[in-house]
Amino acid sequence: MSFSELGLADEIVRAVSEQGYTSPTPIQTQAIPAVLKGGDLLAGAQTGTGKTAGFTLPILQRLTSKPAPAKRSKTVRALILTPTRELAAQVEESVRVYGKYLRLNSAVIFGGVGINPQIALLAKGLDILVATPGRLLDHMQQGTVDLSQVEILVLDEADRMLDMGFIRDIKRVLAALPPKRQNLLFSATFSDDIKALADSLLNAPAMIEVARRNSTVEVIAQKIHPVDRNRKHPLLSHLIKSSNWTQVLVFTRTKHGANKLVEQLGKDGISAMAIHGNKSQSARTKALSEFKDGKLQVLVATDIAARGIDIDQLPHVVNYDLPNVPEDYVHRIGRTGRAGASGEAVSLVCVDEHDMLKGIEKLIKRSLPREVVPGFEPDPNARPQPIQLRSGEAHGRGRASQGQRAGNASQGQRGGNAPQGQQARSPSGGNKPAGPRPAPHRSGGRGR
Ligand code: AMP
Repeated sequence: MSFSELGLADEIVRAVSEQGYTSPTPIQTQAIPAVLKGGDLLAGAQTGTGKTAGFTLPILQRLTSKPAPAKRSKTVRALILTPTRELAAQVEESVRVYGKYLRLNSAVIFGGVGINPQIALLAKGLDILVATPGRLLDHMQQGTVDLSQVEILVLDEADRMLDMGFIRDIKRVLAALPPKRQNLLFSATFSDDIKALADSLLNAPAMIEVARRNSTVEVIAQKIHPVDRNRKHPLLSHLIKSSNWTQVLVFTRTKHGANKLVEQLGKDGISAMAIHGNKSQSARTKALSEFKDGKLQVLVATDIAARGIDIDQLPHVVNYDLPNVPEDYVHRIGRTGRAGASGEAVSLVCVDEHDMLKGIEKLIKRSLPREVVPGFEPDPNARPQPIQLRSGEAHGRGRASQGQRAGNASQGQRGGNAPQGQQARSPSGGNKPAGPRPAPHRSGGRGR
């Protein structure tokens, strides 16, 4: 199967070939014809499956093959909503790359940066707008965007948008759209909330689901290095140096942990930067671009900040701390071994994290090989301690199960690690029982 056989215009096929894609991925093979038909779509696919091109390519095709209505100020033809700024920026970059030979215009808007340049972009009228929900609402309230002409709506990573408490924002956006439109919903998981959203949004959708990453993780070599809690940092430095790793994405559970690790690695002569919600957008962009260019050896990230990061053929992912939520393990290791490339994911696991490890192994339905690194043998008599999320703040471990994920436990705190400078808006999680979620809390400091 080739891209041209899927019914895409030569200009699109050319742009895709220039990216080095020779054949469509499974999600693309299924999603592209479904979207081209014009109906609604419910797709189960995670980052790394090629889902972005799966919706972007047919949207470009549809927009370019229809005679464009005379462009009216502030209007938008296709609206793509994403949970995070990083993902929004990447999706719009994909739109530009795949649409480079077409005469369609696009823009991305998200919070944390000035609103005035965005107002100017919207004023022209756009074929494709990629946005995070909070900032889009700001524009709607200010009357700087007109959604009455939207022909296609995409909710990308819908599960994560709900986890982050965006449901009310999404509903307000939906209310501003014309009733007749094409809706595409992409989600990695299908909780009851997602099913309810899909039921209310989609009209007789085509349904596709590509093998979930937690059943396709075979391309990723995974192993566990058991280690004492206070020897994780020397072990990481040892692994990086002895194996000559040049591009490593490291996950920590907390922002504080990320900062501390960056400092410690620096002392060992390893260049590292952190990305998390307390960093300014410019610092995050700088860290990411240096990492992608190979100038920065180690990028340390928390789960939400790393969500949607797209780095081709990232060879190494390290779980410095195991995630609170088993599913995040799958998202994390999905940063490597993308689109068929092989990768390696190692987890440094101390005695405190054994329950979390059990939860992960249950989710991925396999046990992960343990490999003790000589010189870093864990103390067999060590006793588990409660995981500390912040100094003085004890927290339970890995209790939020699949379907109960309500934001990231470590990030549902005041000033948490939510994108757009806002709080993660589902403050439940961690070891709190999953119950009705509190109303999304909006603080003044959303940094929109
Ligand atoms: P996504 O799941 O959209 O985040 O895409 C994951 C990665 O796969 C991105 O780096 C894309 O550039 C890459 N990719 C998407 N489609 C293809 C394809 N057909 N062949 C090879 N790589 C692809």
